[in-house]
Amino acid sequence: MTLPRQTGFFGHPAGLRTLFLAELWERFSYYGMRALLILFMTAPIAAGGLGWTTAKAGPIYGMYTAMVYLMSLPGGWIADRIIGQRKAVFWGGVIIMCGHIVLAIPSVNSFYAGLALVVLGTGLLKPNISTIVGQLYAPDDERRDAGFSIFYMGINLGALLAPLVTASLAQEQWFKDILVSWGVSPASSWHWGFGATAVGMFFGLVWYVLDRKTLGDAGMYPVVADATEAKRLREMFWKGFGLVTAILAAIVALKFSGAITLSVATVNNTFGILLLVTVVVLFAWLLLGSGWTDEERKRLRIIAVLFLGASVFWSVFEQAGSTLSLFAERSTRNEIFGMSFGSGKWQSVNSLWVVILAPVFAWLWVKLGRRNPSSTAKFALGLLFVSLGFALMVPAASLAANGDRVGWWWLLGCYFLHTVGEMCLSPVGLSAMTKLAPARVGSLMMGVWFMATSVGNFIGGQVAGMYEKFSLPQLFGVVALYALVFAVILALLVKPIKNMLARPNT
Ligand code: GLN
Repeated sequence: MTLPRQTGFFGHPAGLRTLFLAELWERFSYYGMRALLILFMTAPIAAGGLGWTTAKAGPIYGMYTAMVYLMSLPGGWIADRIIGQRKAVFWGGVIIMCGHIVLAIPSVNSFYAGLALVVLGTGLLKPNISTIVGQLYAPDDERRDAGFSIFYMGINLGALLAPLVTASLAQEQWFKDILVSWGVSPASSWHWGFGATAVGMFFGLVWYVLDRKTLGDAGMYPVVADATEAKRLREMFWKGFGLVTAILAAIVALKFSGAITLSVATVNNTFGILLLVTVVVLFAWLLLGSGWTDEERKRLRIIAVLFLGASVFWSVFEQAGSTLSLFAERSTRNEIFGMSFGSGKWQSVNSLWVVILAPVFAWLWVKLGRRNPSSTAKFALGLLFVSLGFALMVPAASLAANGDRVGWWWLLGCYFLHTVGEMCLSPVGLSAMTKLAPARVGSLMMGVWFMATSVGNFIGGQVAGMYEKFSLPQLFGVVALYALVFAVILALLVKPIKNMLARPNT
């Protein structure tokens, strides 16, 4: 199928505008909430928080963020096979919005229920909206990478704005004063922050529906052979859905009846094992399955290497919202030019750097022309920079070891290095997936890409859980070293992968 070349949005297809804004608001809701998450869980009960230790909050943060991205796998499958990406994005948005509304209700049960809804909704929305971006371009369209960079900008504009709003509402005195003047408890401020994210998702949905014409047929239909096949897949889905719901319902019922006790550690370990098994089974199928052509198999091997690099990268990078957020809250002087601000606002800084640096990197890759590093080399660089970011935090943590607070420049520098790493890895990886993936499993591959983020988030959560267990310079140092080791491994793989691509049928 050849797509007509459209230029309605900065020289890109007009559909990119629709997706750009819809994703901007979806990310607003995700990051707005994420900015508060660990702070809310660890804040004292008297201050409206849940009063949990980091040993409990870290793994819960890790599992939640891991699940958000893991659901991309079924989300991609449902879109591919049953409803098409367009509907998946819409219903995903609706479920996310409901999740944020539930989170606005102050109770532990609504907290878990809200998180569960955000997990389900994001699984439907996140991979599929990216797949539709890919579908706006013909396979050989040279604008594809630039299109993904623009899309990435939308993501980060949303992520930049959100914590400014939610952290102000949740943490700053001026809003607590307003609540008091309304006769509302200032300790409920967290839930106003959560509620604001639902408004963001609402805007995203409205925009997505009103501006849908630009998308034409992109993502409209699932890839299914015929009506019988479609029916079989639908039945398969409902059976699977029923089974999983029944198992979860039984576990919840047993827990509430007191028949079993579920410690966070047990759930965490079980989840970790399930995640590992999923990764192993999926890659065994992808690499050993017999249905692929030689060319496809070669590409899948490269995807596996990129997956490994990305998992390690995100496991360090995604501590932005956990370990680094705790450091911002407990060990950083959160004031600039005499103005103090809520620690949650640090969550905007990575995106601020993205907005500044993305055009620089877009220019750089073009400028380098034929010397532009391969995807694997860029992944190695990504790992190197994320390692440097944590290395920079080692002296900062030493300075803060006696309970002192350090200046804002340490975290600013750390986020700068992390963002440089992100620029080397994330847009490149997203685009590489849509190019390398065999077409018939396009959305699934998008799910695989996000699964790397899932694994990363899970590992990152484990590190956050150790925040109070080890000395911080030690913890940060080990994280830096671990990323460095994988940077070297990826760097060593650059040549073999280049050779593999150069030789046909390897
Ligand atoms: N910040 C990007 C986003 O939210 C990338 C996140 C990720 O894949 N870890 O889409």
